[in-house]
Amino acid sequence: MLPSLEQLLILQERDVRLHRAQKELSLIPTEEKQIASRLASQSAHFESLKQQARHIESERKQLELQVGAKEEAIRKFQTHQAQTKKNDEYQAMIHEIERARKDIDELEEKELVLMDQYDAAQKEVQAEGVKVKEYERIAANHQEELKKKKAVLEQQIKDLSAEVAELQKQVNPADLSGYRRILQSKGDIAIVPIVHGNTCNGCHMKITQGTVAIAKSDTKIAHCDNCGRIVYWTLP
Ligand SMILES: [Zn+2]
Repeated sequence: MLPSLEQLLILQERDVRLHRAQKELSLIPTEEKQIASRLASQSAHFESLKQQARHIESERKQLELQVGAKEEAIRKFQTHQAQTKKNDEYQAMIHEIERARKDIDELEEKELVLMDQYDAAQKEVQAEGVKVKEYERIAANHQEELKKKKAVLEQQIKDLSAEVAELQKQVNPADLSGYRRILQSKGDIAIVPIVHGNTCNGCHMKITQGTVAIAKSDTKIAHCDNCGRIVYWTLP
């Protein structure tokens, strides 16, 4: 193989690894955001469940206060009833007391319903609390892993960039710019082997016999007739 091609292949191998590491690194912030947003939405849901339970409880307390007020009213009616000498007032107090007791019954029934709702809401709060804790633990682990992965990738990128810079110095400038141009336009890989005797392994199209001959001759760099990638001959 042409020495310049061998150098370019080594360079390409580092370039590919560098590109892969950069791509992986670029995905980390998205992953971090996903974790944070799931944490936020889960804790918002948890808060809303707690809020709901508090709301039920405060409604129930309102009813309790109303019951207290009715009981207080009954006591006043009873006092008045005991003191009055007028029969119609006495009868009116009996009526008021009955009405207040009926109101109390209704309020207490509503209170019972709210107590059941509160119990159910509390159970939901507890279950969600367990879920939130578990996810927080998983998220913390995941964040820690991402942090480590980030550090590893950053080091790899640093090392590979240094290697690439060093290798580029060793390659003939014209070959290097040709290689860079192809890599830029193809976006994936610039140098590929000829496979099945006459096929470019980049675009998978057949290459002319003339190009195959150039690649085999090891006298100059050959390019795929179709995609323009550098092609090289490998012994079968
Ligand atoms: Zn090709």
